[in-house]
Amino acid sequence: MTSVIVYGLVAALANVAGGYWLTSRRFRPGLRGLPYLLALGAGFMLAAVFLEVLPTTLTFWSGRAEPPLAFALSGFLLIQFFEHTVAPHFHFGEETHVDALIGRRAMVSAVGGVAIHTFFDGVTIASGFAADYRLGLLLFIAVILHKIPEGFTVSSLVLAAGRPDRSARFASLLVGAATLTGVLTVVGFGGSVRYALPFSAGVTLYVAASDLLPEVNKQHGRFISLVVFAGVALYYLTESLLAKL
Ligand SMILES: [Zn+2]
Ligand SMILES: [Zn+2]
Repeated sequence: MTSVIVYGLVAALANVAGGYWLTSRRFRPGLRGLPYLLALGAGFMLAAVFLEVLPTTLTFWSGRAEPPLAFALSGFLLIQFFEHTVAPHFHFGEETHVDALIGRRAMVSAVGGVAIHTFFDGVTIASGFAADYRLGLLLFIAVILHKIPEGFTVSSLVLAAGRPDRSARFASLLVGAATLTGVLTVVGFGGSVRYALPFSAGVTLYVAASDLLPEVNKQHGRFISLVVFAGVALYYLTESLLAKL
């Protein structure tokens, strides 16, 4: 149980690291590599959902597919709701559309949308560990790959709204805390993995396909798209390494 919390804490700190990275003048040039991390994360997450999370979920439902898949659909739609219905302007990557985010309210709702998403990042990690240690590790890696870009995204939203660096860092701390809260919620309500796991599958699918891939596809050139496939390969590699443990 303590190890789950440690993994959650590492994921939360990666959010904070992203926020500090964005606001540090010295390390800022290194941020150009972040879209590649998003591409790697997207491929890894897609492979994890289809090859590990959904198959494991079905074993908890002894072959009944419809109820768990309905939970997966709910998870998918929940993130659509919070990221794009409640917060009408949100996308991964650096926020450069200053005109779209003049208002404080737009900024608050966008940061809130990300916080709901990161809460479920935490739920995903913890429900993976609740099902099986190996699945937990795989989901932790799937999530951590987009955690630094996520902290970076949320801080750039705050900067674009004209707020100081201090507020931008605070926002990354907030979404990090939401991640840890998600982990602690699952740990606290143990036994709900039958529901939490398919729900997380839907959330993960949404993050990979609707948050990360559009950002990857916005970049120029073919190479970054190939990195998505490298993410799938990385998944296979990690999985076979974990199988030997
Ligand atoms: Zn924008
Ligand atoms: Zn996330």
